[in-house]
Amino acid sequence: MQEQERKRRDAMRKSQQRYNANRDESDKFYGTAAWRKLRNVYIRRHPLCSECEKHHRVVPAEIVDHIIPRKRAPELSLKWQNLRALCRACHNRVGDRVSRGGGSEGVG
Ligand SMILES: [Zn+2]
Repeated sequence: MQEQERKRRDAMRKSQQRYNANRDESDKFYGTAAWRKLRNVYIRRHPLCSECEKHHRVVPAEIVDHIIPRKRAPELSLKWQNLRALCRACHNRVGDRVSRGGGSEGVG
């Protein structure tokens, strides 16, 4: 029984790792307490995807994204004004130019 539970957790962790590899979560920044805290607060205040909202769609946000990428403006990493809440589909779409993940979610 325990063995099964372990396998399940292992599979879960693996899928998470795969997901994390897609967005540059290997970046230590995303593991910092400061970011996690800010992200949690932000997503609570902005529970809906801001991109979808523009199109009058109500989609729960899953990811807090940096409007100006951290690589370009690391000093804005923890700036509330530089954040936006996105659903996974929107994040994949905007993230395309950064990470070459073959996100083929047919949108539009
Ligand atoms: Zn969206």
